Amino acid sequence: MIRIGIVGLGKIATDQHVPAITASADFTLAATASRNARADGVASYLDLAAMLAGEPDVQAVSLCQPPQVRHAAARTAIAAGRHVFLEKPPCATLSEIEDLMQAAARAGVTLFASWHSRFAAGVEPARAWLVDKQISSIEIDWKEDVRQWHPGQDWIWQPGGLGVFDPGINALSILTRLLPDPVRLEDAKLETPANREAPVAATLAMRTSDGAPIKAEFDWRQTGKQSWTIRIDTDVGDLLLAEGGNSLSFDGVPQPLPGEGEYRALYDHFAALIRDRRCDVDVSPLRLVADAFLTGHRSYTDAFYH
Ligand code: NAP
Repeated sequence: MIRIGIVGLGKIATDQHVPAITASADFTLAATASRNARADGVASYLDLAAMLAGEPDVQAVSLCQPPQVRHAAARTAIAAGRHVFLEKPPCATLSEIEDLMQAAARAGVTLFASWHSRFAAGVEPARAWLVDKQISSIEIDWKEDVRQWHPGQDWIWQPGGLGVFDPGINALSILTRLLPDPVRLEDAKLETPANREAPVAATLAMRTSDGAPIKAEFDWRQTGKQSWTIRIDTDVGDLLLAEGGNSLSFDGVPQPLPGEGEYRALYDHFAALIRDRRCDVDVSPLRLVADAFLTGHRSYTDAFYH
């Protein structure tokens, strides 16, 4: 069993990481590092440095804080010789994640940049189906109510918090898993609330390496029905991934899938990476977001209050 510590015991750590580790045959939750929360029955520390000093047997850490503080924490954990699981997005910038890749390689530890949506039940069957198809177009709709899913989270609106790309990057992580070749951003429109620093909505125009158009609409102002869908038209019919990748149909015919188990699968993968002394870091979803921030057209819209 690999003894693991969680850093940043907030929403995703509590909802997903703690249950997935508890159910895992490979990991034991040994400690947490969080300023305002603790998990029952395990050692609690206020910060990562204290946890590393107090728990020399903890071999791995999961970094579940907001992305703006992830790089510094990962560097600290790598320097202490621990394997590192990064929540998505792996860092706030591309240069930070490059730095972590080099540091992990030098230290000989596993670095896993997780993309939980890639482990949604429909993603691998969709990928297998697409292998011999000619894609003609792709449409992504990732529209949700920020007040429902991110109540009171201020970091998400601050520089490095990504705004609507925080959920949108999940769609991009599926897209870049489905397509074997690089996706190219051609145009982006970003709408930012007048009193915030990160976008509430974005429209991206991209292309596959074969030139097929990809349109993505991300919007955090969606009330009522929420949509997390990717529709792919091909030479022989269409594929629809819905519910964030956990539902799949071909030409309108629903496909049987196992139940949702993204975080269980993430921890199985992390254990295999540690066993094989490998890293898994794919920056392509973050690169598309960075390209949108680099080249996008900006406009301001109504101020946002929680
Ligand atoms: P969160 O609950 O707002 O934050 C997680 C925890 O990080 C907080 O409870 C806090 O714990 C700590 N933290 C907050 N700000 C910090 C700061 N400036 N410095 C150090 N620690 C800080 O966020 P979350 O929703 O769990 O998201 C965390 C990460 O997981 C994000 O990258 C997000 O994209 C990703 N994620 C979230 C979801 C989701 O559904 N929410 C799903 C998948 C992935 P203490 O105050 O106790 O230290």
